[in-house]
Amino acid sequence: MELVTGGAGFIGSHLVDALVGKGKKVRVIDNFSSGRMEFLSHHNNNVEIIECDLLDFENVNKAMEGIETVHHLAANPDIRLGTEVTDTDLKQGTFATYNILEAMRKNNVKNISFASSSAIYGEAEEMPTTEKYGPLLPISLYGASKIASEVLITAWIGTFGGKAWIHRFANIVGPRGTHGVIFDFIHKLKKTPDRLEVLGDGFQEKSYMSVGDCVNSMLHLIENTNNDVNLFNLGTGDTCSVRRIAEIVVEESKFRNVKIEYTGGKRGWAGDVPKTFLNVDELLKTGFEPTRMSEETIRDCVIDLIDEIGLR
Ligand code: NAD
Repeated sequence: MELVTGGAGFIGSHLVDALVGKGKKVRVIDNFSSGRMEFLSHHNNNVEIIECDLLDFENVNKAMEGIETVHHLAANPDIRLGTEVTDTDLKQGTFATYNILEAMRKNNVKNISFASSSAIYGEAEEMPTTEKYGPLLPISLYGASKIASEVLITAWIGTFGGKAWIHRFANIVGPRGTHGVIFDFIHKLKKTPDRLEVLGDGFQEKSYMSVGDCVNSMLHLIENTNNDVNLFNLGTGDTCSVRRIAEIVVEESKFRNVKIEYTGGKRGWAGDVPKTFLNVDELLKTGFEPTRMSEETIRDCVIDLIDEIGLR
């Protein structure tokens, strides 16, 4: 039995689909703060769903019984929230990971696969950034919670044994997305069809990976790498600017003569890293090839979300 924390969320629900597709039995823990039951409803009763907060140790401990691998994806996904609320990432990120690890130890569960982020690199001087880059100096509270989770995981493996796969994701986009730049732009355009506000100068640049490639690469790494700690950047090896994303959203919408307005400044908000570019050579060396590069991934995602929201 596999356990997916945050399995009702955007990436988690796609991971559940992929695991079920491989014939695995799956249990999900989710508190439904941003996850949705409808993302799992097509599994009928084939997936066990436990509605529970990871901060509730007793229930997490029970949910760990009989588990082979924990896929730990639950976390606050909103990096910007840390500019207003300063303990969310600490609790939903760092402390929740501690509870998972401690419940694993008590139940003799040996394998953990963790959803980390490019945010741990902060404003890296090396581009594209390799897994060996350091020192790691994140500039967001979210990034701090991810690096804290990573080091708790390696400490648990070093002290109590087991295996870990740490996946440092680029920006992940695709169907069922409930947050992020593409989601925000489409909703803004729906509200004001004659203008689109872009936070920052639009020159922010990041890698975008499709959610399908993301979950397939996670499972590929678990199946094909076997160190005690397996650390990989997951992305496409290229980037796309926020300006280009705004243009694609407008091109694919039914609206014409939309004025794209920039609020100015090199970052979208305090803690936003203007450029992230992950080196994915290590991932490619394992034999995994992303099916789409950043711009194509973005356009596919824009088309899907525009259809979901009815903006065509
Ligand atoms: P998401 O919000 O859709 O998924 C997170 C899920 O965790 C949700 O279903 C939410 O209800 C659940 N959750 C949150 N706190 C919880 C708690 N305390 N107890 C139980 N459940 C809880 O976000 P996502 O984009 O699917 O992100 C999944 C993981 O990937 C997160 O850890 C996120 O930080 C990481 N990540 C995402 C991206 C991206 O671009 N989407 C990039 C880097 C890393």
